[in-house]
Amino acid sequence: MLPDVKSLTREELDAQFKAWGEPGFRVPQLLDWLYARRAKSWDGMSNLSKVLREKLRTGFSLQTLELARKQGAQDTTQKFLWKLADGQFIESVLIPANPALYGEASDRHTLCISTQVGCAYGCKFCASGLDGWKRNLEVNEIVEQILAVERWHAGELSRLPAETAAAPAAADSRIVNNLVVMGMGEPLANYDNLIKALKIINAPWGAGIGARKITISTSGLAPQIRRLANEPFQFRLAISLHGATDEVRNRIMPVNKKYPLSELIAACDDYQKLKGRMITLEYILIAGINDTLAQTRPLAALARQLYAKVNLIPYNPVEGLPWHRPSEEVCEGFLAALEKLNVIATLRREKGTDIDAACGQLRLKTERELSGSPQL
Ligand code: SAH
Ligand code: SF4
Repeated sequence: MLPDVKSLTREELDAQFKAWGEPGFRVPQLLDWLYARRAKSWDGMSNLSKVLREKLRTGFSLQTLELARKQGAQDTTQKFLWKLADGQFIESVLIPANPALYGEASDRHTLCISTQVGCAYGCKFCASGLDGWKRNLEVNEIVEQILAVERWHAGELSRLPAETAAAPAAADSRIVNNLVVMGMGEPLANYDNLIKALKIINAPWGAGIGARKITISTSGLAPQIRRLANEPFQFRLAISLHGATDEVRNRIMPVNKKYPLSELIAACDDYQKLKGRMITLEYILIAGINDTLAQTRPLAALARQLYAKVNLIPYNPVEGLPWHRPSEEVCEGFLAALEKLNVIATLRREKGTDIDAACGQLRLKTERELSGSPQL
């Protein structure tokens, strides 16, 4: 297998071009084809010489993601199921900005990307881990999720009636301005590929998404949180807490046995101090598990200790799993109790439940349909 060209940083391409005896200005030309025009083949790269294109073709692959399935209507949450070169499936979810949540204009979009096929962490409520872990995503497979969504978006724009849209310039077809690494998989368990991919995504010559617009979510890998704290990037960090005591967390997140709350919180403390940035604590509300008002006190204590805000997310039911979302009153009551304890908190009034938007659900469904086995 050849390495994929979108797994290389600009510096690595500079070195390769130098070794080939190609002039330095060819690198930005290639980057323009890859990340601004989102080229799908070497042939179209008309300003690169035939000889250079041949060197590229024999030295690197140029993989693109194949859209296997898409759910969701225009202007709502859209879910993309991609088929990888080896036939595995991953998901990305495009979410129109919720002005109430992020305080942004409604033409803004957040893209949620995956970092692994499946997940090894086996949280009891999550579809991604149900069939275990298959493999890590390569750098280019992480980066391509953005490009493939933007390619799809550019295609949609060009289908608009001529009077409403001229052919879009490359920059106009950029749609993703917020990135959350909250799709399938545990990002910090694919650490090196994640960081390299985010470097490319963050670079002005790459996907051009600012570090402060990139959020990494983790189920609580304390050593990797510390490692991340020492990287020279201002990425945002979200912790999938879902329980404010070891007792609750142990019931639903096996990772807590390895890194109990005291260790996780100490790592978050370090991250917060080194970065000076506010951490988000994600808290799925699951009926009868973590939604009693008694939980708001320990949760508020953790949030205050970490200067963190709390993002409450009503549970998105997964077929075959016994968990439920609490009633609206319970969710609102939990939010009000937290606010009373002086915690900055939001409650996601969810988008996308109807299209299996929680991570891993569309893949699971498709895998089961394809293998002919009954749905869970
Ligand atoms: N592995 C990482 C990132 C991917 S999961 C992590 O766990 O943080 C992204 C988020 O979706 C996590 O907060 C996870 O707990 C949440 N999630 C998983 N299944 C869900 C469901 N059925 N309903 C709502 N949120 C869910
Ligand atoms: Fe993996 Fe995150 Fe799902 Fe847990 S919540 S199984 S860590 S993807």
